[in-house]
Amino acid sequence: MYDWLIVGAGFAGSVLAERLASERGDSVLLVDRRPHTGGNAYDHLDEAGILVHKYGPHIFHTNSQQIFDHLSQFTEWRPYSHRVLAQVDGKQVPIPINRTTINSLYDLDLTSEQLGAWLQQRAEPVGNIRTSEDVVVSVVGRELYEKFFRGYTRKQWGVDPSQLDKSVTARVPTRTDDDDRYFTDAFQFMPLEGYTAMFKRMLSHPNIDVRLGVDFNEIRQTQAYGRLVFTGPIDEYFQYCFGRLPYRSLSFEHVTLDKPWHQPVGVVNYPMTEDYTRITEYKHLTGQEHAKTSLTYEHPSADGDPYYPIPREENAERYRQYEALARQTPDVWFVGRLATYKYYNMDQVVGQALATFRRIEERLPRKATRIVTEPTANLPASLRT
Ligand code: FAD
Ligand code: UDP
Repeated sequence: MYDWLIVGAGFAGSVLAERLASERGDSVLLVDRRPHTGGNAYDHLDEAGILVHKYGPHIFHTNSQQIFDHLSQFTEWRPYSHRVLAQVDGKQVPIPINRTTINSLYDLDLTSEQLGAWLQQRAEPVGNIRTSEDVVVSVVGRELYEKFFRGYTRKQWGVDPSQLDKSVTARVPTRTDDDDRYFTDAFQFMPLEGYTAMFKRMLSHPNIDVRLGVDFNEIRQTQAYGRLVFTGPIDEYFQYCFGRLPYRSLSFEHVTLDKPWHQPVGVVNYPMTEDYTRITEYKHLTGQEHAKTSLTYEHPSADGDPYYPIPREENAERYRQYEALARQTPDVWFVGRLATYKYYNMDQVVGQALATFRRIEERLPRKATRIVTEPTANLPASLRT
């Protein structure tokens, strides 16, 4: 019997599998219903031999030294500062909105200080900033909101920004300087050989068995295990007893072009036109050299694999019902973006998994301590294991 069954081989499940196996010496069975590890961060060489992300662009960024150091045990890194352009009014301009964005869109030559005043004139006062509309119009005004945020958000989430929590569009700041990086975190890197290679090293411990193409629902009655870590959708675990939690899905259209480059940066957003939200060109992210180039178009949809929890009060309320039930379910740990219904980035999921491991350590005594001394042959036979 395994000490642990872990459902889901994404960041949440894999980080915990490694900790439990290598720190506690516990045995772990890690299952995923997909045919690969890595969860949504999975990458692979496509038919042309270009490293692509099956589930859309994944850029690692964090302000946590601890999280960065933890993952650095399993990968080397390639420094990468992500840059995004938005196709607006026939031009490609930086998003987050910065000085370059406004000057090129309106044919101006504003200094940072002048831009601050320019934006203030357009900003709409909002008493209580609650929604994804409020948080943008209160900083840049309605016109820029409509150009950059309203259309993109409606496509991405299937609802108007006024129906979404402010935290969604608040992910994208507004700047008055020329900084055109998408993220400002202290650590911004891509795993040198890709995410899948990093997961492979993380899961290489002899105490971890990985079984792919296995759905928890198929083995939940038959597989013997001590305790469970569940990283799938929490409503699915509890058989939707409080109703379904909505998750937003995407379909990914992957194409390879017979030319070296398609666009000037890793991602171009289409907030006003097209039915896709963005195009990713992977070679910008990975630094790979190749005569061809591979792209992904993201088409949002209501149906399909669950990718994004949808931050709205009515959903948070339903999640709280599941969360209360989870707290009364001993020996099951719920971790990750789907199981805690949080719009988390990769680093936040790693942080959550490491915090869960610390809680497990506090709560569960380790198995009888094994003293490992090298080489065992030097020990008296009676002490050898
Ligand atoms: P997942 O990666 O979803 O892993 C959960 C796994 O559980 C899945 O593999 C699933 O198959 C498996 N599973 C579920 N239910 C079952 C079951 N019943 N039986 C068996 N297996 C099951 N984050 C960033 O930091 N930077 C980015 O640039 C970034 N870009 C993103 C782009 C897109 C399009 C998306 C969708 C997400 C992006 N993220 C990004 C977020 C990132 O993907 C997540 O934070 C992270 O992958 C979550 O890890 P997880 O382990 O919680 O979940
Ligand atoms: N967003 C937008 N226009 C953009 C970029 C982002 O309206 O050009 C909004 C949109 O609602 C999006 C959210 O901001 O879902 C968060 O953007 P982010 O790039 O962080 O999304 P993710 O990479 O998680 O899909």
